[in-house]
Amino acid sequence: MTKSNYIKRNSFLIISFLFIQLFNGCSGSRYVDYELPKEFRNPQKKIEFIEKYTPYIKNKIIFIDPGHGGDDRRNIGFEGDAIEADINLNVALALTTFLRQANAVVFLSRDKDKTVALQDRSRLADSLNADIFISIHHNAPGSIGDIWTNYTSTYYHAKPKYYEYNSVNHDLAKYIQRDLSYAMRNSGGPYSFDGTYSDYIIYPNDGFSVLRNSKMPAVLVEGGFTTHHYESQRLTELLFNRIEAWGIFKGLCRFFKAGMPIIKPVSDIDSIGINNREINFIIEDSTNIIPNSIVVKFDSVKFNDYSFNAKNNLLKIDITNIKEGEHILKITVANINGIHSFPFEREIYIIKQYQ
Ligand SMILES: [Zn+2]
Repeated sequence: MTKSNYIKRNSFLIISFLFIQLFNGCSGSRYVDYELPKEFRNPQKKIEFIEKYTPYIKNKIIFIDPGHGGDDRRNIGFEGDAIEADINLNVALALTTFLRQANAVVFLSRDKDKTVALQDRSRLADSLNADIFISIHHNAPGSIGDIWTNYTSTYYHAKPKYYEYNSVNHDLAKYIQRDLSYAMRNSGGPYSFDGTYSDYIIYPNDGFSVLRNSKMPAVLVEGGFTTHHYESQRLTELLFNRIEAWGIFKGLCRFFKAGMPIIKPVSDIDSIGINNREINFIIEDSTNIIPNSIVVKFDSVKFNDYSFNAKNNLLKIDITNIKEGEHILKITVANINGIHSFPFEREIYIIKQYQ
């Protein structure tokens, strides 16, 4: 390179640099930066993804709960425009669009800015017999004025040592968290290995109302912090809300592809009558059940008098040693992908008059 060319090239670089600085200066402190998922850069990839997963997610009933709204417009970013209730709704509506493109059946606790009582959110999902409950939220830090805390987290109910803990909630949380945090390019935060958190961390022994009261696999996502200096700016952009929804959508698709076992009694079991020595269940799953994942509990105590036939997926529980009277039966199983069933949990009455 000649000396004059060298000067010319460097002058060009310096001028370019100054121009970029000037441009940045014009936009004030605004710093909005995010990557488009590959399926957004190439629409064909998006179509392919949706087509690939439609067979697994079609006809599944997904209940989406955009947190807060109406009278409840708490958690507003320090800049004043990142309002949690509105961001939750934008992400929920974008997620609804993606799910409907894959022929899932979607219901929302609200599809506009309105007040919905906490207990009505899970009650509505129960009444619709939803397969999955997903509550969408955005976070705020514990200390006021903290503009630098930001991460993406997904919550499940209870902790493993508690009776209320259902592994399937944790399974679902892992699947959603993986794709959601990747789409947002956020970490899962410093208090968990994988960004999934027990709701007992926030409310010990109680958890979140919407997770505690839902009678189906349920998770609550905290997409990012509305209070973070930069995150708050991304969260007010509709395109970024769609990216976030795409992450949740991908996680849900992969979860359903991995299968979720369903435990069904062979006959009505509300009361088990005279001469009945066993209760039979069929376990339905698109993959295979891991026989030693089966956990049977009577009145929250582990019970081992059962057998499982992997050929016809028949689970037989021998009740010969169960005392007459009222009992709570709880069964969970897992498939080869490690996805657990939602527990089969029922109050049953056993009458003993063996002949
Ligand atoms: Zn919230």
